[in-house]
Amino acid sequence: MPASEFQLIERHFARLGAARADVLLGVGDDCALLQVPADRQLAVSIDTLVEGTHFFPGVDPESLGHKALAVNLSDLAAMGAEPAWVTLALTLPRVDEPWLAGFCRGFARLAARHQVQLVGGDTTRGPLSISVQVHGFVEPGRALRRDQAQAGDQVYVTGSLGDAGLALLAAGGGYDAGDRLAALQQQLDWPQPRISVGQALRPLCRCAIDISDGLLADLGHICEKSHLGATLRQAALPLSEAVADYVRATGDWSIPLAAGDDYELCLVVPAEHQAEVGRIARTLDVPLTLIGQMEPGAGIRCIDAAGNPVSDLQGGYDHFRNT
Ligand code: ADP
Ligand code: MG
Repeated sequence: MPASEFQLIERHFARLGAARADVLLGVGDDCALLQVPADRQLAVSIDTLVEGTHFFPGVDPESLGHKALAVNLSDLAAMGAEPAWVTLALTLPRVDEPWLAGFCRGFARLAARHQVQLVGGDTTRGPLSISVQVHGFVEPGRALRRDQAQAGDQVYVTGSLGDAGLALLAAGGGYDAGDRLAALQQQLDWPQPRISVGQALRPLCRCAIDISDGLLADLGHICEKSHLGATLRQAALPLSEAVADYVRATGDWSIPLAAGDDYELCLVVPAEHQAEVGRIARTLDVPLTLIGQMEPGAGIRCIDAAGNPVSDLQGGYDHFRNT
């Protein structure tokens, strides 16, 4: 490997994020050596972002570094896991140090915030692509799994729905969001993984998912894996003012229900814990909203304020199920 690549690794990746005592050997050898606590299971997930597919060419490298880690931490959040380590495989078209410095700044700030250390990776030349693998800890048997919902459980969602989707629609010229565009863009470019929510609710909860592919698709995964259906109350869905305006103006609920890239959590909690969930919700840094419940059967129904099924949504969901 040319010396410049060693220098690149030393300069940008050798000390990135938290400095953790359970990293016995980090960046610099053939492998990292990591100590998993004796009383924990390891939760592992990987996600790849490809230029032109997952992000626009020319996007701010700092937000890209943030997002590449955030989408992975979101998967740990959805398991109720505590983040620990991360590896990074970067394919770069050329060595662009200012770009790399910006990327690492965004990545490192989020890593430090969640006590995550970069422990290894790979750097190659080619079309811009970023693979991040995260590792976290969870108490044995206590991970939040998609197949653990029960009929009667209540369905909660964090944050608000559809902001990233509306930002994408606006960026493509499909909607004029006016002076709300910047706030929407913020949600798209700087998603905040809901680590604290997954951990705070894990004692009460057996089942969660992150809604990276949109609420209907991802809650649909819980329905399928748990062999259940769900009913959502449309009027209860948490919407930002921008998305509420959009829905009022267009009647199109597909943005909050089916657009992806929100990285909020959908959590399924036994109804007996409702009061306790409410108490915990007041301590969280993000809204947590009760939007529906799990029930016997299959598929997702949406009902309006009067309790009547919202017919045009059914088609949207079926369409999604078949993709
Ligand atoms: P090898 O030849 O054994 O695959 P490399 O030369 O690819 O090793 O990498 C040298 C060291 O630098 C390894 O410890 C590797 O984990 C680390 N490394 C390389 N690229 C990255 C990166 N993008 N992020 C973090 N660590 C990296
Ligand atoms: Mg290598």
